[in-house]
Amino acid sequence: MSWSSPPAVGIDLGTTYSVIARLDERGTPVSLANAEGDLLTPSAVLFDGSEVVVGKEALKALAVEAECVAVFAKRDMGQRHYGKPLQGQWYPPEVIQAFVLKKLADDASRATSPFSHAVITVPAYFDEVRRKATQDAGYMAGLEVLDIINEPTAAAVAFGLQQGFLSTEGTAHRPLNLVVYDLGGGTFDVTVMRIEGGEFRTLATDGDVELGGKDWDQRLLDFAAAEFARRWGSDPRHDPNANARLWQECEEAKRTLSTRRRAAIQVLHAGQALRVEVTREQFEEQTRDLLARTEFTARQALREAGLDWGAVDRVLLVGGSTRMPMVADMLRRLCGRQPDAGISPDEAVAHGAALHAGLLLARLHGRPPRFSIRNVNSHSLGVVGTEASTQRRRTAVLIPKNTPLPVTARRVFKTQQPGQRSLAIPIVEGESRDPEACVPLGTCVISNLPPDLPARTEVEVMFRYRADGRLQVQVRIPATDIQLMQELQRENSLTQVQLDAWRLRIAGT
Ligand code: AMP
Repeated sequence: MSWSSPPAVGIDLGTTYSVIARLDERGTPVSLANAEGDLLTPSAVLFDGSEVVVGKEALKALAVEAECVAVFAKRDMGQRHYGKPLQGQWYPPEVIQAFVLKKLADDASRATSPFSHAVITVPAYFDEVRRKATQDAGYMAGLEVLDIINEPTAAAVAFGLQQGFLSTEGTAHRPLNLVVYDLGGGTFDVTVMRIEGGEFRTLATDGDVELGGKDWDQRLLDFAAAEFARRWGSDPRHDPNANARLWQECEEAKRTLSTRRRAAIQVLHAGQALRVEVTREQFEEQTRDLLARTEFTARQALREAGLDWGAVDRVLLVGGSTRMPMVADMLRRLCGRQPDAGISPDEAVAHGAALHAGLLLARLHGRPPRFSIRNVNSHSLGVVGTEASTQRRRTAVLIPKNTPLPVTARRVFKTQQPGQRSLAIPIVEGESRDPEACVPLGTCVISNLPPDLPARTEVEVMFRYRADGRLQVQVRIPATDIQLMQELQRENSLTQVQLDAWRLRIAGT
């Protein structure tokens, strides 16, 4: 088998931009251009009557037909609906992401040989529900999802290749402690890793799925809109098209401020115009708290990894938002060294995903792996029960956050009544003892318990987090050694019937 047949494909399904890459004949990752000739495809979807348009044209349409365009759907993953109705219809966020994946795959198939298998990346901090939604998006796009891997891990693998860790000589390298600081368009992750020989081991991960470049844009937007309102008495934020146009202006200005000390924002609304100037110092002041949130999270992740900044060998910058000089300034202050900017912050994640796809395909074809990955879970897994002393609903943690994966936890439940035929166990992810403050994963329903069981019969439930952070549940009755079928009734996921219907519909677009 060569590295190129079948192609090993990796997809970075981003909040603002997505990238697809494959391994070339020598096993080196290369990004694939879309039909417009760009390596970065905006994760924007325009619903224009029966036509669905993805990418640059959809993003352009945002300024004139904001009500028909979906952007930042990744932020809503794991919710029942994407945040706004499109042409009067509510779409699940994973469906919108599926349209993005379909375009990436279709365009890439034209540029390379056709393929159906791919690895898709997710923020390390994505919970189980969001991970499943991402896999479902791949399925609906007509793909066979080989695996989902964490974006920082993928970036570290790409970095490892560049640094020679994936060659056989690489195993002789001295171990490296690496902090991956990943600030994208809508999500923030910080992951502490150790690269040793060919092994990429995650020590700890933390993050915020609602923090990213978009929040920096919003601060500029609020500033410019307030200036406009002061001058002309009306607020462009109240008109969806003017707001969308202004957001694009502010995003541009933000990029300018990464290389220049000042930028201008043109505000157009209700037949009036205003040019608002902003300096880099003003911008940094307006967003100081956002940056501080990332610093706090980075410190926390290091603490959980049992390291201090002195033990960190390299800091890797990933995600387009790390181009803001304030990010490198902060990290330099924290760890006393310049962060690594050697890998492309836009492409590294897709490249690492392609390398991982290559690893999985090689394994299928009996070739020796070039590297291995050890992951941790990013959220504690728990079951909800009633505390005997207070009679309050409480979460009992079964697998604490940052446990190396795969891992299995066992817990014994007891039937309450004689002859009881079913048990329902609510499962949550999160760090709080209060179930309301956790993310509901669903209910594990154990039906068809054998008849005539006495009250207080033990039912053993095994919760297994796989290496990809997805959950599997198995049930056994120790007294009878019966293995039972169980069903995870999910709260915010599409059913298989819905997934199949969408897969068919998306294939036809
Ligand atoms: P990603 O999700 O990694 O593609 O990152 C996209 C985010 O990076 C968006 O919020 C962009 O506005 C932001 N971004 C890209 N280039 C720059 C730049 N030169 N300066 C500041 N932010 C940028």
